[in-house]
Amino acid sequence: MKTGKAAVFVKPYKFEIKELPTLPVDPDGILVKITSSAICGTDLHYWRGELKPKAPGKPGPIILGHEMTGKIDSLGSNITTDSMGQEIKEGDRVAFPYFFPCRRCYNCMRLEFNNCPNRFRFRGSIEELPYCNGGFAEYYYLFPGHFVFKVPDELPEEATTSVNCALSQVIYGLQQGDMKIGDSIVIQGAGGLGINAAAAASEMGAENIIVIDGIENRLELAKKCGATHTININEITDKNDRIEYVKKITNQRGADIGLEVVGYPGVVSEGISMLRNGGSYVEIGNIWDNSDATIDMSQLVWSMIKLIGIAHYDPYIIPVALNFLVRTQTKFPLTNIISHKFALDEISDAFQQSEWTGKNSTNGLTRAILVP
Ligand SMILES: [Zn+2]
Ligand SMILES: [Zn+2]
Repeated sequence: MKTGKAAVFVKPYKFEIKELPTLPVDPDGILVKITSSAICGTDLHYWRGELKPKAPGKPGPIILGHEMTGKIDSLGSNITTDSMGQEIKEGDRVAFPYFFPCRRCYNCMRLEFNNCPNRFRFRGSIEELPYCNGGFAEYYYLFPGHFVFKVPDELPEEATTSVNCALSQVIYGLQQGDMKIGDSIVIQGAGGLGINAAAAASEMGAENIIVIDGIENRLELAKKCGATHTININEITDKNDRIEYVKKITNQRGADIGLEVVGYPGVVSEGISMLRNGGSYVEIGNIWDNSDATIDMSQLVWSMIKLIGIAHYDPYIIPVALNFLVRTQTKFPLTNIISHKFALDEISDAFQQSEWTGKNSTNGLTRAILVP
């Protein structure tokens, strides 16, 4: 029986490295050897205990990690192509969604695969699923029927890690915000999602891309990746001045779309105030339990603001993201988002260094990856 190492999340701030068996490979399944896995803001919320696992079943130790890429280790005997019909074989690099629509529910029937209520059913406690299967592990199993896409040879490893979370998430978010050429976009947060969002908005034809954060080196990278303006909250400390700044850039109208990728509800009201009448506020970051925000609802009504919650993406966004990366490789230094690499055994150190709350600088860290 094949086994692999996994970093099991036992309780907040505590991982344990365990050797676990891999899942048996069905003729229609694929076992992926994970080659890199990023620490996403979502993982930090779990680590701090702010977010409880969404998988059904009894609570217990789980394997985190979802922003990842890898190579096909074992290909089910029935599989010869990826979801686009391209030939695939063992050893090929692949990108894939980290959730599993059930295709047996109302939302799946309506082709809303990213909103299937059962999509995390394979991510429960390791007491129920005692396998080496996760982002922060050596292996990840793609169950039968799963979407999978071959990674173009010209893309470096560092470019592909973010494809199945940060990058696809923000491309889908901008689409759902109904982004149009010439729009002005406000992006709250310059972490992995925010920087990818700046690049995607630029490629989609935005006129103004205003990125807000408190960490200067992230804002510098955002500028290289498409941001036309940045706001450092430690320099413009009054939120009314920040709102005024956005209005000034947008001929006093306000932005067409606001993208929340900070992950703290305190920023929502400010982001909405930066929008034009009829603008869209795309909420992506506030994923943790009890993310209560105070919003003046009359502002939504009188300005006809659309508030759009977004989690995950349509599977077809992954090849869109891969092609975007190939096309813009020399234009945006998106690979520079990955600033630190750690071995799986060093996961606790990687999380401590990735923690950004309460810090004005992150020692240059923008995104850390684990290399299992
Ligand atoms: Zn993520
Ligand atoms: Zn479903």
